[in-house]
Amino acid sequence: MSFDELQASLQQRRDADLYRVRRTLESAQGPEVRVDGRDYLGFCSNDYLGLASDPRLKQAMIEGVERFGVGGGASHLVLGHSEAHHALEQALAEFTGRPRVLLFSTGYMANLGTIGALLDKQDAVFEDRLNHASLLDGGLLSGARFQRYLHNDAASLQQRLQRTEARRKLVVSDGVFSMDGDIADLPALSRATRAEGAWLMVDDAHGFGCLGASGGGCVEQFGLDLEQVPVLIGTLGKAFGTAGAFVAGSETLIETLIQYARPYIYTTSMPPAVAWATLTSLQLVQREGWRREHLGLLIERFRSGAQRLGYQLMPSSTPIQPILIGDAGQAMAISRALEQRGIFVGAIRPPTVPAGTARLRVTLSASHSEAQVDRLLQALDEVREMLR
Ligand SMILES: *Cc1c(COP(=O)(O)O)cnc(C)c1O
Repeated sequence: MSFDELQASLQQRRDADLYRVRRTLESAQGPEVRVDGRDYLGFCSNDYLGLASDPRLKQAMIEGVERFGVGGGASHLVLGHSEAHHALEQALAEFTGRPRVLLFSTGYMANLGTIGALLDKQDAVFEDRLNHASLLDGGLLSGARFQRYLHNDAASLQQRLQRTEARRKLVVSDGVFSMDGDIADLPALSRATRAEGAWLMVDDAHGFGCLGASGGGCVEQFGLDLEQVPVLIGTLGKAFGTAGAFVAGSETLIETLIQYARPYIYTTSMPPAVAWATLTSLQLVQREGWRREHLGLLIERFRSGAQRLGYQLMPSSTPIQPILIGDAGQAMAISRALEQRGIFVGAIRPPTVPAGTARLRVTLSASHSEAQVDRLLQALDEVREMLR
């Protein structure tokens, strides 16, 4: 067997300006980053509240390591479930106002595990067409009948729900759409879902920490309870600044996941020190509302500045502020021109986003200053003539 065919497919990807390469980050995550030997202002992390290198979080992590060691050592069901994991599950249950929470090692695994534990081939899953890859993959892997509905369109969802005979029906949506930054119309999705006897699962990876008065995400912002959103997913690697993910819901849901979610059962527990540090992060998320306020100001400043320069933004009020470019090659060229000016912004290309909608995905963080946002706008002004 030869690898020529793989070589050819790699070359095709290069020719289409879709080839991906990794850059090496040599500093901690933050507004100022060192990448491959050079300093940049970064606008592409998901560290929305600026907690990833907060000194109090680092201290909590050190304390966790001293108390619990480094590795989890075993899976949760085989004595890898530590006191630190347990305490974090309880704190997150209180934070989300749900009866119980289950930790997963990553958001990707939480999504695969949850959808897979709830559905099989007698069932049907309904997904927003712009859902995160892990939700789409979870739906496909579950073996359930898979349907996509129009983006954020409860009427399109309800039509599809009405036409199914499946045993269980699970509706799955991002809370904040990760590549567009818009917020799902959860009240409408919840009404449509309940009217048709289905369950709603919301993955609020980008909403937790950023939305809601105490950082409780979309469900706090819209005031949605357990009945309205029975399956709620959050991730800890974004606004919380640590790593891992959780599912919040009823006692029955969580026990079902412990029994049947394979990505929960067959993997080593997250390092307990990470759970320990996340307890501190959860307190900071709730208490330091100024981080959300400052972020809100930066979002407004960026949007009005970029629109004045003639850039096409998307309807987003969240820290995800994509600039629509269209052509993948052009998005890459502008991203490189910004890089030459000392600014790091990721270009997002198909297949992560639909063909013809390549974009610069600007993300803002509470750790950015207004002056840093102004530097980004200045650089965008300088590269403006590259827009066709
Ligand atoms: C980032 C992300 C995930 C994956 O979470 P990880 O913990 O990074 O694996 C899942 N869902 C959405 C919507 C995300 O943006």
